[in-house]
Amino acid sequence: MEVKTDFLVLGSGIAGLTLAIKLAELGSVAIVTKKEAIESNTNYAQGGIAAVMDPLDSFEDHVRDTLVCGAGICHEDVVRFVVGEGPERIRELIQWGVEFSRNEQGFDLGREGGHSTRRVLHAKDLTGREIERALVRKAAQSPNIHIYENCMAVELIRKPGPSGVVHDQGRCIGAYILEPQKGNVLTFRAKFVALATGGAGKVYLVTTNPDIATGDGIAMAYRAGAKVANLEFMQFHPTCLFHPEAKSFLISEAVRGEGGILRLKSGEAFMEKYHPMKSLAPRDIVARAIDSELKKSGDEYVLLDITHREGSFIKKRFPNIYQKCLEFGIDITREPIPVVPAAHFMCGGVLTDHCGQTTIEGLFACGEVACTGLHGANRLASNSLLEGIIFAHRTFLKIREILPGLVEECVPIPEWDPRGATQSDESIVVSHNWDEIRRGMSNYVGIVRSEKRLARAKRRIDLIQQEIDEYYRNFIITRDLLELRNIAVVAKLIIRCAMRRKESRGLHYTIDYPERDDRNWKRDTVIQRG
Ligand SMILES: Cc1cc2nc3c(=O)[nH]c(=O)nc-3n(C[C@H](O)[C@H](O)[C@H](O)COP(=O)(O)OP(=O)(O)OC[C@H]3O[C@@H](n4cnc5c(N)ncnc54)[C@H](O)[C@@H]3O)c2cc1C
Repeated sequence: MEVKTDFLVLGSGIAGLTLAIKLAELGSVAIVTKKEAIESNTNYAQGGIAAVMDPLDSFEDHVRDTLVCGAGICHEDVVRFVVGEGPERIRELIQWGVEFSRNEQGFDLGREGGHSTRRVLHAKDLTGREIERALVRKAAQSPNIHIYENCMAVELIRKPGPSGVVHDQGRCIGAYILEPQKGNVLTFRAKFVALATGGAGKVYLVTTNPDIATGDGIAMAYRAGAKVANLEFMQFHPTCLFHPEAKSFLISEAVRGEGGILRLKSGEAFMEKYHPMKSLAPRDIVARAIDSELKKSGDEYVLLDITHREGSFIKKRFPNIYQKCLEFGIDITREPIPVVPAAHFMCGGVLTDHCGQTTIEGLFACGEVACTGLHGANRLASNSLLEGIIFAHRTFLKIREILPGLVEECVPIPEWDPRGATQSDESIVVSHNWDEIRRGMSNYVGIVRSEKRLARAKRRIDLIQQEIDEYYRNFIITRDLLELRNIAVVAKLIIRCAMRRKESRGLHYTIDYPERDDRNWKRDTVIQRG
């Protein structure tokens, strides 16, 4: 079956929803999303969204903080327009119904690591949930938007070239979409396709990301021939709750912003050994410091201590974190929180220009799936929600500009080939391979890398990939199998990018090249299939 729409948006996080709401002014929009609409990385964002909203703050300071954090390879022009356009986009979110926390002075601005001042708008510690709530509501009100929940994009479709191979040439004209509950693969045809599929934290064993974050957009774009970049820069959040029963629960950077101190199990505060900003140093430095302390002590976690602040303040400022920790038997007003670093944010992704255009005509990318030049080698805290709304807006402007000149050719798209279509009980192999990839990535391609470790990881992923390809060719596809195939592709791309960069910079640290080398490596790492 073929579904025809003007615009196909893959993903319903902040980037996808913002873009869809705007595109609905121009025509019909299909949002395809893997689970229910709110389920996304956005939904779990706690700290907030950075923007210059305080008269005492300045664009120049926000630009400088972003550039410092990005370790020399942010694109300064991108940083300047993202920071400069931030306040207008924030006002738009507010108009659409997002309610940020306020105090007597105005917005209650939080402070996070790497920021020289308080500039983070938040909705208590549930900022992402509040944004998703408002955007899903706004999208649902538009008659031009149809949300396809529990549907998964499998592969992008490019206009067939002379060879007849669908995803090999020409502009992007749609995507194959799996309806897992029915086992159908539908063909979606669109004038423009936008990837807003978010990040890839699930490539690692310990992550703050929810299950949807399997790097599908990066893998699909790469397979379709788009350029991808800077995938070696996976940001590890220093403070994910360590508890045997807690799955991916983040302790927001804002806890350190409000005075939280990192300590060893013995109670000793250790960050002064690593950075003058101590516990509020940039994330990469804090994550590496914790990694190093854990390796020295053999402990499984360090402690984040905010007990010196008033209990009533903690409960008011961090109601969600307080409640969640309490469920695990930790009263954060009285005892420190056990934490470990966890894969958190992908700074690289599908390469785009200033308007979200990828290197494939007709295909745009915005949000965490994209590599726009904003983050460089390390993302400044709370700049990613901001990036999502800025690039969604710019993508909309670009599409609005080029839409009238678009000559649509109604080329036939072959229906999805159901492959070997043999039913199989592949679930055990799939879950073993999932586990092996994620464990291998955490062990060998984590916070501290080496040539040897990367080579070892690559050898293993190569083998697993052969096995997955065989399954993919011969058996009926399932969501698990597709996600496994995608995490294997992204894992391999991370390793390839990391192997290329013969220096340490930002989030990429290798013991074989421990110094930053601006003469040779002050640039993006760009990879394309073939
Ligand atoms: C715990 C946590 C806390 C964070 N805190 C902050 C913060 O305070 N400030 C900040 O700026 N950033 C924060 N981040 C990062 C930020 O939340 C994300 O970078 C941002 O929300 C990404 O938005 P997005 O729209 O690009 O993707 P997402 O919000 O992740 O949305 C991706 C969407 O794509 C869908 N999708 C994925 N694959 C497919 C597929 N194959 N087919 C169909 N649909 C698909 C998903 O279901 C989802 O709807 C945090 C992240 C986490 C995990």
